[in-house]
Amino acid sequence: MAKFEGYKDIYVFVEQKNGEIANVGYELISEARKLVASIPHMNFDVVGVLLGHNIKDKANDVIKHGADKVIVVDDELLATYSTQFYADALTQVINAFKPDSLLTGATVLGRDLAPRVAARLNAGLTADATKIEMDPEKEDEALLLVTRPTFGGNLFGTIICPDTRPQMATIRPNVFSMDPVDESRTGEVIEFTPEFTDKEAKVVVKEVIEKVVEGIDITKCDILVGAGRGAEDCLDMVAAVAEELGGAMCASRAVVDDGLADKAIQVGQTGKTVRPSLYIACGISGACQHVAGMEKSDMIIAINRDPQAEIFSIANMGFVGDVKEILPLLKEEIIAAKK
Ligand code: FAD
Repeated sequence: MAKFEGYKDIYVFVEQKNGEIANVGYELISEARKLVASIPHMNFDVVGVLLGHNIKDKANDVIKHGADKVIVVDDELLATYSTQFYADALTQVINAFKPDSLLTGATVLGRDLAPRVAARLNAGLTADATKIEMDPEKEDEALLLVTRPTFGGNLFGTIICPDTRPQMATIRPNVFSMDPVDESRTGEVIEFTPEFTDKEAKVVVKEVIEKVVEGIDITKCDILVGAGRGAEDCLDMVAAVAEELGGAMCASRAVVDDGLADKAIQVGQTGKTVRPSLYIACGISGACQHVAGMEKSDMIIAINRDPQAEIFSIANMGFVGDVKEILPLLKEEIIAAKK
């Protein structure tokens, strides 16, 4: 008899707000597809779990992004996020369908929901993962190897949850890439009705006030020019190069801590994870906590006056020299190339 009789498939919690699905759900579905492909003998499906109200029509989008099935829980108690009702509903989905693993975005919502559900199920949860693989040595089970930064980001630890199911993990947005949409893809939509034993909300949301985000969302930029402490004297030049390239400026934590950039544009372990097609690191040392947030960029160009700087070890191209001298030359070259 299999060790975890009845537990099957990789489930992805598909986060939505006002009916708009967050990209992280699609990123996790794409990664889950790779995971199931690595264990063909287990015959696992990728299953999306969509919670909300009036969201059933979104299930097909989830399928087109790679899910084989979508479980839809549509209830007016789930219209806006509530820890109580979402945790109730998701726990019931898991108890009813027995997923082998469940992946959730490490968003504000996911970080609130996943641990609560894990505690209710007595399941293991690895938070803030940056890499997920199947253990190739386990033939008769789908054991996830979940890697995350630890000890302040100085080490990476790989965590397994071998004794309980589902194996749960939260993963930051932008860590995995999203597969292209396949319009021809079809799949099964299953409607699930949970029983809310206590319909009285412990916390009542009186009003939702949308945060006004000023400036550009760096996670959506295709070109980023990153300013580190070595570029603090020429941030206007960094911004000018970013503008010439049609991209945006971002920053290391050092620059944010020095009060010279907004936290919203910080890249790294305690900032945002980005994966642009071009990342130009200006006066950035390449500390692992920064690299964790940008190493998946398609092309990395580093400018640093220290030839031994760590950033060069992950750069596709490097310039050893003073940013204050190199950036104006770069800007001129870009302008000339545009003519
Ligand atoms: P520095 O380390 O000071 O490096 C400056 C670089 O600029 C040096 O390599 C230097 O050679 C070069 N330089 C100096 N002058 C010039 C010049 N004129 N021309 C060219 N090069 C020059 N950091 C992040 O960025 N993001 C995070 O999310 C983050 N999270 C963290 C979480 C934890 C728990 C901890 C402990 C740390 C975190 N850090 C983070 C901090 C991280 O460890 C580094 O301290 C930080 O990334 C350093 O920023 P920096 O490279 O800009 O500055």
